[in-house]
Amino acid sequence: MAKKNKGPWSHRLLIGILTVVMTILCIWLLGFVVDDIGNLPGPDYETIRSQLLDPALVEEQESVADEIAKVERKIKSQSSRQQLLRDSTSNSQKTMNQLLEFQRLSLQKNVTPSTEEQEAMAESQRSFLANQKQYQALNQTIGQLKDKLGQLENKKRSLESKIRKQEEPVRKRMQTLYAQHAFKTAVMKLAFLLPLLFVAVWLFLKYRGGIYAQLIYAFGIAVAWKVSWVMHQHFPSPYFHYILVIAALAVVIRVLVYLLRMIAFPKIDWLLRQYREAYEFFLCPICTYPIRRGPLAYRFWNRRSIKKMLIPAGDTSAEETPYTCPVCTTQLYENCASCSKIRPSLLPACPQCGQVSQPDTDAAGSNAGAET
Ligand SMILES: [Zn+2]
Ligand SMILES: [Zn+2]
Repeated sequence: MAKKNKGPWSHRLLIGILTVVMTILCIWLLGFVVDDIGNLPGPDYETIRSQLLDPALVEEQESVADEIAKVERKIKSQSSRQQLLRDSTSNSQKTMNQLLEFQRLSLQKNVTPSTEEQEAMAESQRSFLANQKQYQALNQTIGQLKDKLGQLENKKRSLESKIRKQEEPVRKRMQTLYAQHAFKTAVMKLAFLLPLLFVAVWLFLKYRGGIYAQLIYAFGIAVAWKVSWVMHQHFPSPYFHYILVIAALAVVIRVLVYLLRMIAFPKIDWLLRQYREAYEFFLCPICTYPIRRGPLAYRFWNRRSIKKMLIPAGDTSAEETPYTCPVCTTQLYENCASCSKIRPSLLPACPQCGQVSQPDTDAAGSNAGAET
């Protein structure tokens, strides 16, 4: 019921900006909690796979993979040996050719080659043939290894197709478990957010006209935003659309009702109600500062404490005087224009003579929005 001092525009702008900032910070804070709930560990694929898959099959697959690696290593080492052998064979071939050429030239000159030369020739021929033989043997080994590798790979493929068939139920189970997990986290998120939403609605209904209304708006918007975000994320969009439309409808209806009531019950009515209550509590209707006059001149109270306060009977002989609120400078008691006795300035009629005066419309204007 305090007078709503709107303050300079820069101040109002700052309040607006800070309200927006607070809304964003609230959304972030709620977002962190909601994200943490969302990051709770879900079903583990490996565990379910090991539960549902035939362990013998998995073991066989592993041993086949091991064997394949082993055979591949062997093929590689045999191939490198073969490469070395190839180099050495070509060397001995070159030597043999040179010796043959030498022999041919000697024969042309009718010189018979010495026994050493014949020996060397025979030696190089032997080594060449031995190399050749070894090379063939290696070729055969590699061929056998490659056959084995092919068989193993066939086995691996058939195992893989078997496992793939068995993995189908794993995938299905995983999907069910994941859906359950998602539902569980959604419920947890709402269990966290909905009480906050109720608090926000309650604060809004109770204190929306108070001086801290902006704080309530910021908090309420943040909570509502986060709730609708969680709903949108977790529940099928058709439901979400219903909820969204119903919520929007509720807001529109609330605003419409407010506007219609404003037309049906002009502002002056509730302003008068506000003034009446304030006079009853001996508080200034404009700024709620206590009206310290008569027997209450040296007391202090507020709306709550005055109900428990024993008000002294007072000195009725003391003459009543006009009274102006020392805080907001509003005249609260004045001399009646008709009977010149003291009357409350902001109430319509003089209690002594009943003369009716219109309430101060200026005060009504400056107070607009105090009880929206
Ligand atoms: Zn006042
Ligand atoms: Zn009067």
